[in-house]
Amino acid sequence: MAEKIKMQNPIVEMDGDEMTRIIWQLIKDELLTPYIELNTEYYDLGLKHRDETEDRVTIDAAMATKKHRVAVKCATITPNAQRVEEYGLRQMWKSPNGTIRAILDGTVFRAPIIVKGIRPFVRTWKKPITLARHAYGDVYKDVEYRVEGPGTAELVFRGKDGNEIFRDTIHEFSGPGVMLGMHNTDESIRSFARACFNYALEVRQDLWFATKDTISKKYDHTFKDIFQEMYEKEYSEKFREAGIEYFYTLIDDAVARVIRSEGGFIWACKNYDGDVMSDMVASAYGSLAMMTSVLVSPDGCYEYEAAHGTVTRHYYKHLRGEETSTNSMATLFAWTGALRKRGELDGNTDLVNFANDLETAAIRTIEEGVMTGDLAALSELEDKKVVNTAGFLREIRKRLDQILSER
Ligand code: NAP
Ligand code: MG
Repeated sequence: MAEKIKMQNPIVEMDGDEMTRIIWQLIKDELLTPYIELNTEYYDLGLKHRDETEDRVTIDAAMATKKHRVAVKCATITPNAQRVEEYGLRQMWKSPNGTIRAILDGTVFRAPIIVKGIRPFVRTWKKPITLARHAYGDVYKDVEYRVEGPGTAELVFRGKDGNEIFRDTIHEFSGPGVMLGMHNTDESIRSFARACFNYALEVRQDLWFATKDTISKKYDHTFKDIFQEMYEKEYSEKFREAGIEYFYTLIDDAVARVIRSEGGFIWACKNYDGDVMSDMVASAYGSLAMMTSVLVSPDGCYEYEAAHGTVTRHYYKHLRGEETSTNSMATLFAWTGALRKRGELDGNTDLVNFANDLETAAIRTIEEGVMTGDLAALSELEDKKVVNTAGFLREIRKRLDQILSER
């Protein structure tokens, strides 16, 4: 066997929970460590260890990502009341993804893995649509009030010295109703715009952005203006050189165009639009198990993960000793994404090639009809063979060895 590939700098490795934690180890044992002298800085974000460290480990992992610039993360449990009981937690710890995103000031880009035999529900879509969601503010950080009876709702802004700078009537209520106040900051919008422009350049795809600026003449218009200004000042030249475009339109027009498009672009969305549209786009491509996700910070740190969760139902089956057929594609592509990025940053061609070969082997496996149960239910291929969780990775390895032997 050929010599193992060496890595100059480490990848920050964030282990996780349940079925994806099982898959994590299988991927490393079957597809990574036999080929690479894997250099990772390991952080155990499994719920038990988060609890033991009072969630310190999540912060440490995020700080390590700032330092090393590349991370790969396994899916993790976001605790709710039931999990607090199940794991005997000291506290209902916050979502690790939320914590990491806040520290890195990152934007999440989600893209589907496309394979022959699994056609998107939208006939025209031939290439992936990558969705970028602005994950700060708006209705997710609002203040709401249930109006019980007649009265006046006002919007007031006071400067730091306490002086009133702005006051306007929102509505004169004659009876019960509802109201809310929400905000965003130029700084956060700028970080979001920068992450989107940089990512578009990196993957050489057009960038679309949309708001409702015709109706929301200050709020949404600010988003539009910040994107436009940054584009003109810093990115128009680079986009021209890369042969890609920045395209702005109204959100309803964007939705109509997305449905008629071929795909192959990045769609930047405001927080709520992104929340809604990412679930629509993901289901239209067929399967959450084929959706990859990368968190990109404005200063160029990358954290790769699968978009799905810890696949709890399969894990309980696994614990009962029953066979599982869990799809490891998105988790595997999180690893290949991180390895490729590490390789690119370090000028390590062997590592980049390996990541590409591993992806080719995985896609080939499915296109040759060997797949997990979730995909078999969707695939239009004639001959399909359903394999179990570990069997799928062994099938990928066979094809990987084939590809490597032909190099
Ligand atoms: P989930 O883990 O994504 O699974 C939901 C269902 O989708 C599964 O039961 C399964 O359907 C199907 N599925 C998802 N991934 C699959 C895969 N790789 N292979 C095959 N089928 C797959 O979502 P959940 O059950 O709502 O959440 C479970 C836990 O994950 C929660 O504790 C949540 O906090 C956490 N979570 C973490 C992240 C993250 O770390 N990024 C994201 C979301 C959720 P069938 O059961 O029908 O086979
Ligand atoms: Mg959603």
